[in-house]
Amino acid sequence: MKRGNEAAIDQAEWDRVKTRLKQEFGDSAYKSWVTPIVATSLRDGEVELSVPTRFMRDWITTHYAERIRALWNGENPSVRKITLRVDSGKIDVTKPDTVKAEAPKMTSAPPVAAPAARPAGLSRVPARPVAETAPQGSPLGPDLSAPLDARYNFENFVVGKPNEFAYAAAKRVAESDQVSFNPLFLYGGVGLGKTHLMHAIAWEIRQRTPHRRVIYLSAEKFMYSFVRALRNQDTVSFKEQFRSVDVLMIDDVQFIAGKDATQEEFFHTFNALVDQGRQIVLSADKSPSSLEEIGDRLRSRLASGLVADLHPTTFELRLGILDAKAEQLGVVVPQKVKEFLAHKITSNVRELEGALTRLVAHAQLVGGSLSLETTQELLQDLLRAHDRRLTMEEIQKRVAEHFKIRVSDMSSARRSRAVARPRQVAMYLSKQLTSRSLPEIGRAFGGRDHTTVIHAVRKIEELVKLDTAFAEDVELLTRMLES
Ligand code: ADP
Ligand code: MG
Repeated sequence: MKRGNEAAIDQAEWDRVKTRLKQEFGDSAYKSWVTPIVATSLRDGEVELSVPTRFMRDWITTHYAERIRALWNGENPSVRKITLRVDSGKIDVTKPDTVKAEAPKMTSAPPVAAPAARPAGLSRVPARPVAETAPQGSPLGPDLSAPLDARYNFENFVVGKPNEFAYAAAKRVAESDQVSFNPLFLYGGVGLGKTHLMHAIAWEIRQRTPHRRVIYLSAEKFMYSFVRALRNQDTVSFKEQFRSVDVLMIDDVQFIAGKDATQEEFFHTFNALVDQGRQIVLSADKSPSSLEEIGDRLRSRLASGLVADLHPTTFELRLGILDAKAEQLGVVVPQKVKEFLAHKITSNVRELEGALTRLVAHAQLVGGSLSLETTQELLQDLLRAHDRRLTMEEIQKRVAEHFKIRVSDMSSARRSRAVARPRQVAMYLSKQLTSRSLPEIGRAFGGRDHTTVIHAVRKIEELVKLDTAFAEDVELLTRMLES
């Protein structure tokens, strides 16, 4: 990103600083935290460094920035301050000089593509040079496309049952030179890989057929650009920009919902492109038919191609993702820890990645190996947030189903083994999987005393040790409840 009046960075200086950092902090920390840093400018004694994620910015600021400043100051006394900015790792697919025209609103809060925390080591995937990916002679204005994340490619996408269909559809669109399904509509919950797949499609098309112009942007940005064009009475050139596109990808189209004028414009752009045989790829957090605020015409148009959904992850997929990410980070994470994470962090892949990053960062910087205890300690906040989502009602229901008894028996006075044992299991699981207190658990089970709950917990712990079949039951239930 270039700005008019900045002083250039002396690359040799920066290289020497990096060499020192490597000596001081060691190879692996260096690789994770220093190599992704790009020194972007020096002005008025202030060096600006850019890093790919917010997490990295925060981490480097607290752990390395002062050392970088001191070392650099030793090289060049005019350097007095270091600032970090989140930017790189995302490669701009349009022109390198996109900054000046970017609206402040969009730069400060990129609507979708900014992952909260991502494993730093992922940046070892070679960043593709801008020149290779920039559409030649693209007439597109700087406003219209968003940067692509080099790490969001097909190779880095772990495929499992929940996402294999969406993956296959994305692959197909990316690999066929002609328009295949039009539009391809990807949908699924937050953090399940929609943006990742869209970027992967864009990368692949760029690589296979560089002459095709791909534009990727969020629906919010689309709206924003359109509204701005309206205000500047420049909708004609806005439309022109889209006409020249071969592949139009719009992420999170649910944001278009309810905005009539933008919807209308989107609809026309959409139709014009489809009529010209251009490929369109869209994503949303809901299926087209559930996008309530979108007009009927547009909705049926959205559903007219191939609709592919990303299902919530399974334990196996989560484990696979953890394996892959740990490998990319170049760290060995004990199987137990991975399984624990895959059990506990079930909401979405982004959180799972964030958890792993935190563990790895800790291990690399503080030293020591990763154990279950450290994991639990380091991720306390995350784990607690997850606990709260699982209710005792849910536990009672699942356990009752599993043992084929009635849910009402969870709180009934019946004492026969056939109902008492499942009830104890449910109490035990409530203790293990929620943050409810013993008296609270007792109350939820027909107003029983907390000592009854303690007894149940002990009993189940004992049985699990003695009876492998029973232990498997409990294990299975635990997994099911946590996924
Ligand atoms: P969405 O757009 O659906 O909210 P993202 O595509 O931003 O989700 O994914 C969130 C994070 O999880 C990203 O860092 C992405 O790389 C990662 N991710 C999601 N699914 C997978 C997968 N199957 N394999 C590898 N990484 C994944
Ligand atoms: Mg997304």
